[in-house]
Amino acid sequence: MLSRDIVIIGAGPAGLAASIEAGKAGADVLVADLNMKPGGQLFKQIHKFFGSSEHHSGTRGTDIGIRLLKEAENAGVEIWLRSAVIGIFPGNKVAIRKDLGDGKTELITLLAKKIIMATGASENVVRFKGWTSPGVMGAGAAQTMVNVNHVKPGKKIVMVGSGNVGLIVSYQLMQAGCEVVAVVEAAPGIGGYAVHAAKICRAGVPIYTKHTVVEAVTDEDGCVKEVVIAEVDGKFNPVAGTEKRLEADTVTIAAGLKPVVELPRLLNCDFSYHGLFGGWIPLHNKNMETSVAGIYVAGDSTGVEEANTALEEGRIAGIAAAESLGLIPADRADARKKEIWGRLESLRMGPFGEKRLKGKEAILKEYKERIGLPSVR
Ligand SMILES: Cc1cc2nc3c(=O)[nH]c(=O)nc-3n(C[C@H](O)[C@H](O)[C@H](O)COP(=O)(O)OP(=O)(O)OC[C@H]3O[C@@H](n4cnc5c(N)ncnc54)[C@H](O)[C@@H]3O)c2cc1C
Repeated sequence: MLSRDIVIIGAGPAGLAASIEAGKAGADVLVADLNMKPGGQLFKQIHKFFGSSEHHSGTRGTDIGIRLLKEAENAGVEIWLRSAVIGIFPGNKVAIRKDLGDGKTELITLLAKKIIMATGASENVVRFKGWTSPGVMGAGAAQTMVNVNHVKPGKKIVMVGSGNVGLIVSYQLMQAGCEVVAVVEAAPGIGGYAVHAAKICRAGVPIYTKHTVVEAVTDEDGCVKEVVIAEVDGKFNPVAGTEKRLEADTVTIAAGLKPVVELPRLLNCDFSYHGLFGGWIPLHNKNMETSVAGIYVAGDSTGVEEANTALEEGRIAGIAAAESLGLIPADRADARKKEIWGRLESLRMGPFGEKRLKGKEAILKEYKERIGLPSVR
């Protein structure tokens, strides 16, 4: 059976950062990703990042991705694409379904000394009449279509949700030549940063706060032709008689993300619920190790945040996994991890960040109280 020191699942910022640290320490690292291209969300992000210079402010997500891939290559990391990890079995046997093209697949089982899961997040849905029709999709799917595959999802688009994802993707859809008919937001105020909202407002896109989508009306082929929106009451229920009909062929939904955690579930890792981070997350300690020894997590799959926090968490997981294999002396690993935790603290500042800092501290505390030391299962 094939074997590797460390198998990393997911080639997003968290997985790539983990692979670079572990590879540089001398570990034999394999990264598996189900996508056709590595980089996770980064290659969709054609906009410039905010933040400090040490956290890529002013750099486009795509450029960060290119830089990470180069570093991974220099560190000797092997990346398998179109390779979905479909199971992890006792003894750290990792089952990978590799897509060979032309409808052919190969099932490969690999033995891993350590496993890092960096599987990211998936989009939440909003249900309304017609929500399963062709033309209704997640905002992330629409972003992949325009920025990665260079295909317009539709001509006239209604965006549901005014958080940063809804606002940024609306702007990128307009850059790609789509018309954004409206942004619809159930909350009383716009969810994302004012700078992103201003860009689309300047282009004349109305943002309907205190509104929701009621129906995607379809034509005889079942495709969206009109979208009905309505005001909501204090309990977010549509108010009868306030409906507006918008001519549109596409509805994109940006209603938040939730961690992708099927694999740690399969391994019976201990979980905890944190609404702030998108829902159920695998409990982890300061090494990003779960309740199961040798199984690490990093990035959005440990709670939805952002690319920079994903990168830093990935670095910690990579260092900790290499340290546990005896490839990095404990004092050097501790110093590096302390430095990274410091940077994570500075990323988790400000009105939104502070809540996340407290939330992450609560997770570490819960781990200490409930788990103590990771166990071999
Ligand atoms: C519109 C938008 C704008 C954003 N803008 C910013 C920004 O300006 N600044 C910022 O810091 N962050 C931003 N973010 C957030 C950022 O993109 C994410 O937080 C970050 O990508 C998370 O990294 P990750 O490595 O945890 O997950 P991802 O980047 O999602 O990568 C996870 C990878 O795991 C793979 N995978 C999942 N399951 C499996 C499996 N079973 N087998 C194999 N592979 C698997 C997926 O294919 C994917 O490639 C934005 C996000 C969006 C949607």
